[in-house]
Amino acid sequence: MASNMTNPANHLPYFFGNITREEAEEYLMQGAASDGLYLLRQSRNYLGGFALSLAHGRKVHHYTIERELSGSYAIAGGKSHASPAELINYHSEEADGLICLLRKPFNRPPGVQPKTGPFEDLKENLIREYVKQTWNLQGHALEQAIISQKPQLEKLIATTAHEKMPWFHGRISREESEHRILIGPRSNGKFLIRERDNNGSYALCLLNDGKVLHYRIDRDKTGKLSIPDGKRFDTLWQLVEHYSYKPDGLLRVLTIPCPQLGSENDNVVFNSRLPLPGTPSKSWAGGGIISRLKSYTFPKAGSKKLQGTIGHSPDEAPFNPYVLQRKRGLTGAEKGDQREALPMDTEVYESPYADPDEIKPKNVTLDRKLLTLEEGELGSGNFGTVKKGFYRMKKGAKPVAVKILKNESNDPAIKDELLREANVMQQLDNPYIVRMIGICEAEAWMLVMEMAELGPLNKFLQKNRHVTERNITELVHQVSMGMKYLEENNFVHRDLAARNVLLVTQHYAKISDFGLSKALSADENYYKAQSHGKWPVKWYAPECMNFYKFSSKSDVWSFGVLMWEAFSYGQKPYKGMKGGEVAQMIERGERMERPEVCPTEVYDLMKLCWTYNVEDRPGFVAVELRLRNYYYDISH
Ligand code: AMP
Repeated sequence: MASNMTNPANHLPYFFGNITREEAEEYLMQGAASDGLYLLRQSRNYLGGFALSLAHGRKVHHYTIERELSGSYAIAGGKSHASPAELINYHSEEADGLICLLRKPFNRPPGVQPKTGPFEDLKENLIREYVKQTWNLQGHALEQAIISQKPQLEKLIATTAHEKMPWFHGRISREESEHRILIGPRSNGKFLIRERDNNGSYALCLLNDGKVLHYRIDRDKTGKLSIPDGKRFDTLWQLVEHYSYKPDGLLRVLTIPCPQLGSENDNVVFNSRLPLPGTPSKSWAGGGIISRLKSYTFPKAGSKKLQGTIGHSPDEAPFNPYVLQRKRGLTGAEKGDQREALPMDTEVYESPYADPDEIKPKNVTLDRKLLTLEEGELGSGNFGTVKKGFYRMKKGAKPVAVKILKNESNDPAIKDELLREANVMQQLDNPYIVRMIGICEAEAWMLVMEMAELGPLNKFLQKNRHVTERNITELVHQVSMGMKYLEENNFVHRDLAARNVLLVTQHYAKISDFGLSKALSADENYYKAQSHGKWPVKWYAPECMNFYKFSSKSDVWSFGVLMWEAFSYGQKPYKGMKGGEVAQMIERGERMERPEVCPTEVYDLMKLCWTYNVEDRPGFVAVELRLRNYYYDISH
């Protein structure tokens, strides 16, 4: 499962995953609980955190390892370490607050895998359901959304999804909560959670022998939730899950959520195979409240609920990501629970022709009457200019970028090039590639494309030095996803560079400029150019220069240069050098140096992209996966 792939402890033989404290104690007892025997498990209350269970004097001691905001790990109040493994190594030599040194790991018995928690399992399903329902996506579009936005989606789910849980009743009075719990069956452990105020404090209302008990849930300065003197949790989810396993200070465990009659949550379905309320907590090991949820309804994008989440007041105009983008500016400043627009929030995530109601243009020839052009230029080249415009479609006017061929140039080669570009673009449909809307022959030949308002990546980064390393990683990862798609479909781009990556938002990149691109035929995996042309040689792999051979692997080389440009904030590669000098430098085995703010993981990947031999160079499948894992790692 994807969430495991990036767990920084999964490779450790003494990591047991999401087992309970009691299970950890049982394991260590199997190992005779000798002094210094230890194991590592997933924290059940801190997202991304761990717990260390350590035997000493025939007793087991448990320590929480928190994941800090900086991404490092520490036992509360202790030294920070880059990974759980490093923390373990450190405490094998220094007790530093622990009851004793970590002497011997207790390894998982053969065949036992780290256990995925109900939260982890459910989270995967929840994310999928959430994306499916909120943005109405399916198939590839759905998968791509999950892959590229996993960290953001996890956060969204963890912090907002409780609002739609059956046990969450929102802002109701104490009296109302008692009234609701006492309607219907009065099973012990029936419960609900209500909101108490705007400061993020809640109350847990629990039925015990016909009486409703109210436990306060307060939020501390760091945002953690707890009942007085109780364990602290990052989310209400984890709190509910924990208390459905064991009372831990409550009068009894949570058993069944008090339903909200007539609400959307009537759609919540429970897995009936799981224990009925009243069964002793021990037999709940298969799962608590959360893991019993089988289906779940989310608000649709554009509904008031979602607008609320992204910081629109309910009486504002319908949700429009472009408005959000402009209003928020590029500062990235987050206020309250406002969030940045995700790629799926924008109008260009899916093709306009994905809409079944849209008229499919025959031969992608557009009607000039439906196209309006604005004054001013977005950009220009020797072919002519790129202008902003609007194309009227079924669901309204769509902002478009229009490449307009110079009329005075009667050079047929330029027209052919535009038509070739259109022909390639017509065959591509991916969220991370600029799509063609169509072509229009009127006062000039025009190529109508999706609009990527923030323009080329290199220029954007030159002007926005505050953009974080994580943000840049997110963008180059999206480019690698687009390139993986091209590779799969046997297209070579041949002009992959930061200038040809356009931004829709600060968090959404698309590959553009297919002027040099080629579709490969089924029986070859490279394109052979007849002669040397006007080539972007600083982006070209040795085999392009030496043998005129172009493949997805040579695009990988260019992608390495693109990453270098991005992490250099739009600087020119091989500054001050001529093409020939660059080629000599590469032949000598030299490569560009690591940009100042570039993480070593990314630089290592760049160098891998600049592997001299095509056969030894990775393809985009491998490159995308490396970037994905690194991006998830730094996004927690
Ligand atoms: P090109 O010749 O395709 O590289 O286009 C020249 C310039 O026009 C680019 O560098 C962009 O600034 C702008 N441009 C091209 N396509 C688009 C687009 N789809 N959305 C926004 N701007 C674009």
